[in-house]
Amino acid sequence: MEAKKIRSTFIEFFQSKQHQYVPSSPIVVKNDPTLMFTNAGMNQFKDAFLGNEIAKYSRVANSQKCLRVSGKHNDLEEVGVDTYHHTMFEMLGNWSFGDYFKKEAIEWAWELLTEVYKLPKDRLYVSVFQGDAEDKLEKDQEAYDLWKGIVAEDRIIMGSKKDNFWEMGDTGPCGPCSEIHVDLRSEAERAAVPGRDLVNNDHPQVIEIWNLVFMQFNRLADGSLKELPAKHVDTGMGFERLVRAIQMKSSNYDTDLFGPFIKALEVKSGKTYGKDEPTDIAFRVIVDHIRAISFTIADGQIPSNNKAGYVIRRILRRAVRYGYTFLGFHQPFLYELTPLIAEYFGEVFPEVRAQQEFISKVIQEEEASFLRTLDHGLKMLETIKAELHAKSDQVIAGKTAFELYDTYGFPLDLTSLIARENGFSVDEKGFGEEMEKQKTRSRAASEQETGDWEFVSEDTGVEFIGYDFTETYSHIVKHRTITDKKGDRYQLVLDKTPFYAESGGQVGDTGWLISDSEKIRVMDTKKENDLIVHFVEKLPSNPEKRFSAEVDREKRQLTMNNHTATHLLQSALKAVLGDHIQQRGSLVNENLLRFDFSHFGKMTDEEISKVEDIVNAKIRENISLVEQRNVPIEEAKKMGATALFGEKYGDFVRVITFDKDFSVELCGGTHVPSTGQIGLFKITSEGSISSGVRRIEAITSKAAETYLREQEALLKELQELLKNPRDLKKAVESLILERNELKKEIESLHLEKASGVKNQLLNQFVEKEGVNILIAQVELPNADSLKKLAYELKNEVTNALVVLAAKIEDKPQIAVILEDGLVVSKGWNAGQLVRDLAKEIQGGGGGQAFFATAGGKDLAGLEKVVLKAKEMFL
Ligand code: ATP
Ligand code: MG
Repeated sequence: MEAKKIRSTFIEFFQSKQHQYVPSSPIVVKNDPTLMFTNAGMNQFKDAFLGNEIAKYSRVANSQKCLRVSGKHNDLEEVGVDTYHHTMFEMLGNWSFGDYFKKEAIEWAWELLTEVYKLPKDRLYVSVFQGDAEDKLEKDQEAYDLWKGIVAEDRIIMGSKKDNFWEMGDTGPCGPCSEIHVDLRSEAERAAVPGRDLVNNDHPQVIEIWNLVFMQFNRLADGSLKELPAKHVDTGMGFERLVRAIQMKSSNYDTDLFGPFIKALEVKSGKTYGKDEPTDIAFRVIVDHIRAISFTIADGQIPSNNKAGYVIRRILRRAVRYGYTFLGFHQPFLYELTPLIAEYFGEVFPEVRAQQEFISKVIQEEEASFLRTLDHGLKMLETIKAELHAKSDQVIAGKTAFELYDTYGFPLDLTSLIARENGFSVDEKGFGEEMEKQKTRSRAASEQETGDWEFVSEDTGVEFIGYDFTETYSHIVKHRTITDKKGDRYQLVLDKTPFYAESGGQVGDTGWLISDSEKIRVMDTKKENDLIVHFVEKLPSNPEKRFSAEVDREKRQLTMNNHTATHLLQSALKAVLGDHIQQRGSLVNENLLRFDFSHFGKMTDEEISKVEDIVNAKIRENISLVEQRNVPIEEAKKMGATALFGEKYGDFVRVITFDKDFSVELCGGTHVPSTGQIGLFKITSEGSISSGVRRIEAITSKAAETYLREQEALLKELQELLKNPRDLKKAVESLILERNELKKEIESLHLEKASGVKNQLLNQFVEKEGVNILIAQVELPNADSLKKLAYELKNEVTNALVVLAAKIEDKPQIAVILEDGLVVSKGWNAGQLVRDLAKEIQGGGGGQAFFATAGGKDLAGLEKVVLKAKEMFL
């Protein structure tokens, strides 16, 4: 069975059991401080498990894009080295939210694997949670009994908390699980050692394929477990592993999921997969990583220097380095695999097809820049080698290796490899220590402890009324304390709130909570999944009281101006630059708007003016806002609404329209009632932020007026400085012209002065033993004129020796020049002479045997230079 069919069969099987299919949520996570990337199918349902939100469907099936390269689940170092862990993989899952529990989950899993996919029963093993004393948990008898009804008892394995108790993170929903493992070894191997002994033992042919998690608890910050209000099922099956089991391959990379990629890489590198291990690892790393990189870029995460962007950059660099070292790629090559990604995944994940060109360009640029870094690092290593050689040392210090790694992105194994090739080694322990030190430093900087929610009133869900009101009465539902090195801060949730939580680029509202006895400042508002969390400076002394929740209206107003202007800007950009313009990020606050978009090439001044003109015209048209809430997503798409890749949209969306033929966007932000309120729009900068992504910053209303006024004031000042000329531009031009002429004049004066000096000096030569000697102190404008003077003197006088002690821009310099013949006949050497003389001015220098110069620090020493030279030669 082909991979595609295996995927659709899974979905269809659960649809036949009344499950609703939902699309994968983005691989890049927003609005969750505990997670950068989706690492399991359940992430998007976290709130439903926690009871923060009521699930839309009680039974769901999906294929979720997952990435396990950071945090609690990090498989990066395994990937490529083994044949069944990927960075990005698809997790097939079926879900029950308070509906069916262990019985159906277990029976259906078995039915699908053995009757639909027809996996041989004698190759399957199942595991059951054995209980845990510390958590006071008993053995999962219920699951055991259910399995006993299906499989022979010797195929059931009891597992510890490590293997059979699933937790998403340090806190959050969790519960016992039952895993299904498959034994893909040959008949002979199976006869020799029973598969049962190899389950959960890192055997590459006896692997876990499916995990059935029975969500029963919530792990609190103090480590204790609390029963969840309702019981759920969360299952996760690695799609790539399933395909391999069904296709009976000994490696995920031998399936039709990876085959085309391996082929393409073989053609490109001229190497064959399956011949030797280091090369094979490189193949696997590359065909794995290109998926992770493409999917994350498609979901809006561009490689960068921090957080999620840095994780992607590291994955990309790992792939490039393996290609560089083992497959001989010294030019960008990864990006050439992106058309295959579009071809093989475009149907299920349209985002990679739609953005293929962009993804390709971003990757190519990153590759090129890292290859330059590699080159640079290689040169640094050359210097390091020379230094070691000089010291007859054999070991590159850990600190040096770490610097290469940290500053130049030069990985330790590459440093070690090159060192080995050159007969050196690397102090890897020292490297590890440096790494640890850095980790401790960054941990200390970011460490934060999040307390459990403390409930004040009953949690009946949160109502957001901020589109219609900026003020309301409300009650605190719960609060908690956040502690980090800055001290304690507090977060709280209200039953009803007008505060807009940061999202879609728009900053969170600030404002106040006011009761009859207190006024508390709300410093920020953020989303945590779908929860609206208010950040406050202190907790009220009476949290049960009724509060008036009041948004800072002035700030909200200015922010709304900028948000609506951002929509107008996006449409104007499309009109001026073309339809390829895609939003890549945005920031909207009370001071400015920032809009990142895909476009290759700098905008001309003319294009910028055109965009400004369009936006300002739309502002003057005073277009009324049309806000539609709860539009079915399909209908919104039909309206031509602009949507963002990597954004999680529900089935019903909010559509913001300013002139249905101009700007229609899916948006959750707050907007002006009509565009006239924005007043004025002014772009303040346009530039590149990464390959193929440009950034515009702009201001509106008051800020734009202030900006223009400042520009005007600056002009006025200039006018005054230049004594109010009739034509300012002409005045500045003539200033520049005048300045250039003066410069020329000074230069020719210098020349004149130098030739005057020369004429005087020509009279001061003294003849001794057939040599014409001049030793003199002079003052000159620059080093060039000293050199010129020395040469001219030598050329105009036969058999000359000239020593000039010069004061140049208040610094001492010496020049010695002599007739070439004297080097041999007298054994004189200008370089040696100049070094001797330079001691008198506390300096040093050198040059050739017939001409040399030196500089120094002690101006008073010039007289001594003259005396010393005279002593030597006269
Ligand atoms: P393993 O022990 O093999 O790393 P796991 O216990 O981390 O697996 P779960 O967290 O239970 O796995 O995830 C559910 C399923 O997802 C697994 O049964 C497996 O099929 C798949 N899976 C997990 N990690 C990866 C990965 N890095 N690459 C591919 N598939 C994976
Ligand atoms: Mg794992």
